[in-house]
Amino acid sequence: MVEPTREHAFSYRDGVLCAEAVSLDALAEEHGTPLFVYSHDTLVSRFHRLRRAFAPLEPLIAYSVKANPSLGVIRSLAREGSGADVVSVGELERALLAGVAPGAIVFSGVGKRRDELEAGLAAGIRCFNVEVAEELELLSQLAVARGVVAPIAFRVNPDVDAKTHRHITVGRKVDKFGVPFEQAVALYRRAAELPGVDPRGIDCHIGSQLTQLDPFRQALARIGELVGTLRAQGLAIEWVDVGGGLGVRYRDETPPTIEAYAEVVRDAVSALGCQAILEPGRILAAPAGVLLTEVLYRKQVGEKRFVIVDAAMTDLPRPALYDARHDVWAVREGTPLIQGDVVGPVCESGDFLAREEQVPDAQVGERICVLGAGAYCRSMTSTYNSRPRAAEVLVRGDEVHLIQRRERLEELWAHERIPEFLGS
Ligand SMILES: *Cc1c(COP(=O)(O)O)cnc(C)c1O
Repeated sequence: MVEPTREHAFSYRDGVLCAEAVSLDALAEEHGTPLFVYSHDTLVSRFHRLRRAFAPLEPLIAYSVKANPSLGVIRSLAREGSGADVVSVGELERALLAGVAPGAIVFSGVGKRRDELEAGLAAGIRCFNVEVAEELELLSQLAVARGVVAPIAFRVNPDVDAKTHRHITVGRKVDKFGVPFEQAVALYRRAAELPGVDPRGIDCHIGSQLTQLDPFRQALARIGELVGTLRAQGLAIEWVDVGGGLGVRYRDETPPTIEAYAEVVRDAVSALGCQAILEPGRILAAPAGVLLTEVLYRKQVGEKRFVIVDAAMTDLPRPALYDARHDVWAVREGTPLIQGDVVGPVCESGDFLAREEQVPDAQVGERICVLGAGAYCRSMTSTYNSRPRAAEVLVRGDEVHLIQRRERLEELWAHERIPEFLGS
């Protein structure tokens, strides 16, 4: 029986939208807006649901830190047994600080610098996902100099179209990611010769926010082919890292369930007799967060209506970057809807949180929130227009934990200097 799982823990109680047991109005009073609010329960239940769906395979679930790199978020998942997928030395240090075991960390990324490879070697991570031939040579040299052997997988580009937004489809031949499929065998042979690396796995990540299973099936079929070829040449492949990429429902999408996705991956990976590594980001974090914001003004120009709020594209860049549409809910239950735009104060017409949608007709001083804001929102914020970055709170039952305070104005220029010749 498939257990009915709530998508997230944001619901109305006594007429007010709550995160678990805490009113979003109360959170806004206490911590100000814009504010990211995360549900610990949602985050952790998503992780367990994924683990259950994969149970017979007992995969390493390496949470993709870039989705939401807050230490409190990484730690919440690490305590449940999650590893980490990192793409920079900064993310590596975060994962280690948050308590992820080095043996559960995989290091991905198309352009790892020498110091980043060094940091991974020093930590003794589970695997380097190598994307370029030159990276392999450099990694081997650095490992030899340290007297260690680095476990590696090649990130193979299977040349499939993930059929998602053009900025987040990454597994076609024309994309910059991974080593070309045709070169993979030669690269594995080269890796087997080098003294500082040990090719033990194979890796593939074809894109993000995928709403169909077919691209995963196609990619895994190609990976299976390659594993067969490699084995025929005497190269052992212990694990398949299937990357991340499963989509979530932001508004109208109908992505496959975690269970349906798991079935596809399980079938392919167990047929190969390999271990599995997963690198989920969005499916764990996105539904676990909302961006809470206050209505500053309202404006009507002809027929066009605008709700002007104190959050902006600097806090939630997905609409501007990916044409993303998110659900927007009023904190007060029963707030009527109007056709219009929810916009921020930034000087860009791309600065909108919702455009030409049914949005809450919230009054000045009332609050609304953008759902599905737990992944690729706070982690992609900027300080454009000299806007300090928003605070983040993690709610657990009726407890509220500030996991990142709001950036202070003076922190925006703390690292700047006016050259002396300009006078004081
Ligand atoms: C971004 C990324 C992920 C996570 O993708 P999601 O769509 O958030 O699941 C996994 N692996 C790699 C290599 C990535 O770049």
